[in-house]
Amino acid sequence: IAGVTHAYRTDAGPLPVLRDLDIAVPEGGFAAVVGPSGCGKSTLTRLIAGLMRPDRGEVRLHGEPVRSPRATVGMAFQNPVLLEWRTILDNVVLPLEIVPNKLSRRQREDRARELLALVGLAGFEDKRPSELSGGMRQRASLCRALVHKPEVLILDEPFGALDAFTREDLWQTMHALRAEQPFTAVLITHDLRESIFLADEIFVLSGRPATVQHRMRVPDTGPRTLDDL
Ligand code: ATP
Ligand code: MG
Repeated sequence: IAGVTHAYRTDAGPLPVLRDLDIAVPEGGFAAVVGPSGCGKSTLTRLIAGLMRPDRGEVRLHGEPVRSPRATVGMAFQNPVLLEWRTILDNVVLPLEIVPNKLSRRQREDRARELLALVGLAGFEDKRPSELSGGMRQRASLCRALVHKPEVLILDEPFGALDAFTREDLWQTMHALRAEQPFTAVLITHDLRESIFLADEIFVLSGRPATVQHRMRVPDTGPRTLDDL
């Protein structure tokens, strides 16, 4: 994220939200972005995902502007939007029906089943989203975000709506997912413990328009457990 500046156009005139943001995440790295409510974190995720273009600056992947965001970026949000008329399996398969790939229907389903098993949802493939708990739905949405093996995973407070126990369970799940499939991650969160547990670098946004006020490396102390926090 290089020199990204963005303002929304509103009836009251331009609303500057982000200014000269520089956030570099090494390949396979895990960045956390923290900052007060309304400072522009979700705006940043939309820019990274290519859903909007910044007024100035650029979002790059391997030094090149992101061209095909759907294929290279996976996203998970605070309130996962799963389609009720599809089974859990078919929800997870969905990105493989949109992003170009050479997989057969069988291979797509196998890939989705593999991820669902990894997050502890084996046996729930044929359920509907409403038959799952909030934590289970969030697990399914993580599988959907990763099923097409995106290079970058963007997480916009994906665990915020969950109770503390479920949240910590999902942190472990994130480690399991990363071990199975390498990806670069940008996590938006209000939870400092979460960012310390998951990320290797923390960027603090503040101000209006927001800039990066601090960046902190999380010391690499080997595999982290919840007891370390
Ligand atoms: P939170 O932590 O509460 O989720 P945030 O850091 O994600 O907040 P954003 O949703 O990015 O904040 O919003 C940043 C600012 O941009 C806010 O002032 C918000 O009102 C404004 N904003 C967000 N989306 C739009 C939009 N589509 N049009 C106009 N203004 C917007
Ligand atoms: Mg937000």
